[in-house]
Amino acid sequence: MSNNTVLTHSGRDAVQQQGFVNPAVTRGSTVLYPTAEDLSAGRSKYSYGRRGNPTTSALSEAMTEIEGGAGVVLTPSGLNAVTTSLLAVLSSGDHLLMVDTAYHPTRHFCDTTLARLGVTTTYYDPTIGPDIRTLFTDRTKAVFTESPGSLTFEIQDIPAIAEAAHGIDAAVLMDNTWATALYFDAHRHGVDISLQAGTKYLSGHSDVNVGTISANAKYWPQLKETHGNLGLCLSPDDAYLALRGFRTMGVRLARHHESGLAVARWLEARPEVRRVMHPALDSHPQNNLWKRDFRGASGLFSVEFMPTEKQNLNMMLNELKLFGMGYSWGGFESLAIPFDARTTRTATQWDPQGPTVRLHIGLEDVEDLLADLERGLAKLRSA
Ligand SMILES: *Cc1c(COP(=O)(O)O)cnc(C)c1O
Repeated sequence: MSNNTVLTHSGRDAVQQQGFVNPAVTRGSTVLYPTAEDLSAGRSKYSYGRRGNPTTSALSEAMTEIEGGAGVVLTPSGLNAVTTSLLAVLSSGDHLLMVDTAYHPTRHFCDTTLARLGVTTTYYDPTIGPDIRTLFTDRTKAVFTESPGSLTFEIQDIPAIAEAAHGIDAAVLMDNTWATALYFDAHRHGVDISLQAGTKYLSGHSDVNVGTISANAKYWPQLKETHGNLGLCLSPDDAYLALRGFRTMGVRLARHHESGLAVARWLEARPEVRRVMHPALDSHPQNNLWKRDFRGASGLFSVEFMPTEKQNLNMMLNELKLFGMGYSWGGFESLAIPFDARTTRTATQWDPQGPTVRLHIGLEDVEDLLADLERGLAKLRSA
């Protein structure tokens, strides 16, 4: 079955749900066993709240179907999905290859906690492709990818990286938050462990933090074990919200794709704009890889403006009425956030000439968003 049908039908069972379409929000820690024999034999679908309940199972079963791996575990945030995945595959003395354009807190985890645990990290250029093998050591156990890269949207050649990594039996991890399983089929492209901040498009309404991690058959046992050992669980209320978002993810992403690309194209033609970093634009340096591997684009991309003073950029941002300023993205609303990635990269040079802003294109009507941006750009021109 294709994606929108899976989104609509997976992870629900009307008979178990007393006929209702959706599962109940099951709040609970203790699970009672009917007899002493059942207790000693562990005869029960659920054993304890932390280990899952009907609400969280509905979400993980639905996610397993859409990801196409062996199983999915749920975590209380996207960052926790990153850290749990890394802890599932790395041990003291191991070497990790981490993409230079990773989400910044991912990098911080490597430089602090993983370093303390005796794991060394080498950062690599997101466009390295099969040359990733030149960075392998005899202790390389994992290659972490994020495509497109955070803030600057480089597309990685995931199949080439996966092929090289599997040649030395290293695990391939991916932060697939931008595309989700709908627009990038991570396991089919060689990714062993694919995670996402469900806080973004899965939930889609800016009202919950949640992470999901999908593993293939080879890595599923150790992922499940690590997740259990860390005592991780997702609240049933948050699982319910994420599952509600799951049902409409297909139509929302299609709209984010269409509107995001329309705004990106409009901005690209503007004299105030130096460059638009959106993987689906012909001008994007890895547009060929995006076309080859992705089924769509979501609503997040960045813009480099022509050189101007910071105060002028602030005037433009303050003029925008429909673009909120704040962290996170993936909700129904549009966002704009200035960023400076110059000081956070170590394997690559990132040296824009003008100020850079990341935009999230929400579900508003495009003509209203363009009118808002037009007002902002007029302010920038008048500065
Ligand atoms: C937001 C984000 C995360 C972290 O998700 P939280 O729920 O905020 O912890 C991880 N990776 C990427 C790419 C993100 O954008």
